[in-house]
Amino acid sequence: MRQILITISACPTFANTFSFDFAKAAVENEKLGAGDVTDFLALSISSTDYIGHAFGPNSVEIEDTYLRLDKDIEDFLKYLDAKVGKGNYLFFLTADHAVAHIPGFLKENKLPGGTFDDGDLKKELNAMIESKFGLKNIVVSLQNYQVYLNTNEIENQGKDAVAIKDAVIKALQVKPFILTAFEPGKINAVTLPEPLKTRFTNGYNVKRSGDIQFAIKSGYFDGGSKGTTHGVWNPYDAHIPCVFFGWGVKPGKTNRETYMTDIAPTIAAMLHIQMPSGCVGKVITELVK
Ligand SMILES: [Zn+2]
Repeated sequence: MRQILITISACPTFANTFSFDFAKAAVENEKLGAGDVTDFLALSISSTDYIGHAFGPNSVEIEDTYLRLDKDIEDFLKYLDAKVGKGNYLFFLTADHAVAHIPGFLKENKLPGGTFDDGDLKKELNAMIESKFGLKNIVVSLQNYQVYLNTNEIENQGKDAVAIKDAVIKALQVKPFILTAFEPGKINAVTLPEPLKTRFTNGYNVKRSGDIQFAIKSGYFDGGSKGTTHGVWNPYDAHIPCVFFGWGVKPGKTNRETYMTDIAPTIAAMLHIQMPSGCVGKVITELVK
């Protein structure tokens, strides 16, 4: 059987259209779908992200982007129908995240939320550590709601790392926009609602994660007065689309919670092949014919 697997995961106005043109060139020149083994085409549509960051999810700019994207997808599907034939390809569409409202929208609609500055928070924590422990610039970075400490310097100076981490946690926990702060490597000792605990655990990497993680209140993010960003667990940020269609797909819908990690095992099941080695998801059985 000839099939092509196509994935789209949701840059600016015409970049999406250019990406689809590249995809068509790949189908033509790599002769996708023309051999007797399954081919896989992954297409990243990122205008939605850039325009979403700049103008927010309720802007006319993002509306324009999605209307154009819809037309681009229509055009691409018609192209595939003509090139490889209806029902001969499996198409799936998803995203890696959504986004928070822009600060202006929150204010206008009296919604809770706001912004804070990572750089200011870093300065504040460094000043606190210097006054209490006599060490300068121990906070090296604040990224993705994680605090990275210069643990080598703490050790070299013979200071108490546990006491410094505790002081950072306490300083974060009193911030009005922070729900809680903890050491991510010791999350099992932290009282957190289960869904959050699982998400923080899934996001933890012993080699790359920060020394302290903090969870913020919904609607808050690291930013300024304009634009927005993503990176939290809340549904407005974490709820993503999952659309499958074409070869081997049973038409229908489900409101059951499914995850992006379910895509790989679902496709493996449809192709009757082994799941990838790091696969943690489950087959979305509702959509398999
Ligand atoms: Zn982004």
